[in-house]
Amino acid sequence: MALINTHRDGEEYLTTTADLTDYLDEWKTTGRRDGTGAELAAVRAVRPLLRAVWEADDGSPRAARINALLDGAAWRPYLTSHAEMAEWHLHPNSPEAPVADRLMAECGLAFVDVMRMDEEQRLRICAAQDCTAVLVDFSRNRSKRFCDTGNCGNREHVAAYRARKRA
Ligand SMILES: [Zn+2]
Ligand SMILES: [Zn+2]
Repeated sequence: MALINTHRDGEEYLTTTADLTDYLDEWKTTGRRDGTGAELAAVRAVRPLLRAVWEADDGSPRAARINALLDGAAWRPYLTSHAEMAEWHLHPNSPEAPVADRLMAECGLAFVDVMRMDEEQRLRICAAQDCTAVLVDFSRNRSKRFCDTGNCGNREHVAAYRARKRA
């Protein structure tokens, strides 16, 4: 989700290889990193595939886009245990696989879980008028409407308050 939001409202937030390093550090991404322009381009290219899943209609249309994502990903199941997660667990790829491949496979599997748990309604696009960020609604009553990237909830509340005052 955070990866998709590195491109939102027509703005690019993954401009340089340093931006990518910051992003991967922030999300504690382990394994191989090249620090090259090619790697940056490959990671950026994953985003529209993820957004397509978000924007799809529920059910079969979304499943089709998830399958496209799964089909394009590289797979090489890899049993691992590392500092970030000490219990043994399965990664879809070895740590030597390109980071874009690993992100794509991991996101594909995350979407599979969303479908299996019948949680599609939690995949949302920010309700603020000028915002294209995506969000996952983890709230119990599924009431989250605004993203966390741009203070959208506050902005909309202020706008609604002003509109009420005018009326
Ligand atoms: Zn892991
Ligand atoms: Zn927003």
